[in-house]
Amino acid sequence: MNLLNKINGKWIKKFSYPLIIAGPCSAENKSQILDTAKNINKDYVEVFRAGIWKPRTKPGMFEGVGEIGLKWLMDAKKKYNFLIATEIANKKQAEIALKYDIDILWIGARSTCNPFTVEEIANTLKNTKKIILIKNPLSLDINLWLGGVERLINKNIFNIGLIHRGFTIYPSKTYRNLPCWLEVVNIKKDYPNIPIICDPSHITGDSKLILEVSKKAIDFGYDGLMVETHINPDNALSDAYQQITPDKLTDILNKILFKKKNNNFNEINLYRTNILEIDKNIIYLLKKRLNSSKLIGKIKKKNNIEIIQKEKMLELKEYYKSICKSINIDENYIQNLFDIIHKKSIEVQLK
Ligand code: PEP
Ligand code: MN
Repeated sequence: MNLLNKINGKWIKKFSYPLIIAGPCSAENKSQILDTAKNINKDYVEVFRAGIWKPRTKPGMFEGVGEIGLKWLMDAKKKYNFLIATEIANKKQAEIALKYDIDILWIGARSTCNPFTVEEIANTLKNTKKIILIKNPLSLDINLWLGGVERLINKNIFNIGLIHRGFTIYPSKTYRNLPCWLEVVNIKKDYPNIPIICDPSHITGDSKLILEVSKKAIDFGYDGLMVETHINPDNALSDAYQQITPDKLTDILNKILFKKKNNNFNEINLYRTNILEIDKNIIYLLKKRLNSSKLIGKIKKKNNIEIIQKEKMLELKEYYKSICKSINIDENYIQNLFDIIHKKSIEVQLK
């Protein structure tokens, strides 16, 4: 039996559908935690989240309040009756979270990238009945993600779920991390009992786009959402652009109008979405290509080199041909496309 089939997905049935996890990116102080928790709509939200150890891109940024934040989270739990979720990124953090009896622990995107880290965390959590969520790694490496799940299963941890928070594919002006829906939805095809939760906050990086991405996730049959929610997003110490107020969260959840879980969604939509993502990718790459052409044009001009070099063109044609052969794609189709691309390239070089 495939290890992944040992996941016990039944834990999610104990929540209403869809499971909504909400709360700030970071715990900042006690009143921020309690005010946020107080204002979050209990009709929708069953789990309150906050990070207390924050993995930041650069040093010198707010790195979380540490252990004291767990006390505030437990206060919020007592007062408002939520389950509590927080991120753990190493053995020490896992031990502390267990000591405080935090209900749900998640492994962050940066940690999932490192098998040593996941192994160390799995070892510390061995035999736990707690719900362990694992975010996708930064790169689009589904096996690395599922490998992380297997490491947990190997330590007798079965109450597991995935969090889809998007991937670093290329810099995008629209989304912070590209969703790559098709690849993630396909996991569900292979392993229908793995709960998958979408994190529209880290996918979009933009509070204005939370609704459209949340809607898509629900349409594609996801089991829940994790949405960064802050009582005062403008003054948040981390991820300020993507956090929304508790009222805005209610507004978004009202708009999604949950029905029954969508197990038989329209697959055409998934492929259409995938094509849009690919097209965007193609346009970004063409832009990058044009930038290089421009620079080549400048160098050619400076050194009095001919813009059109016949032998280089022939070399390129052979190059495309060999790529087409290796991945079995119609050669003429690709050559025709490159005729257009080269025409533009010559045009910008002439300028
Ligand atoms: C977070 O949830 O605040 C977080 C740090 O997320 P990720 O690991 O997805 O970057
Ligand atoms: Mn965050």
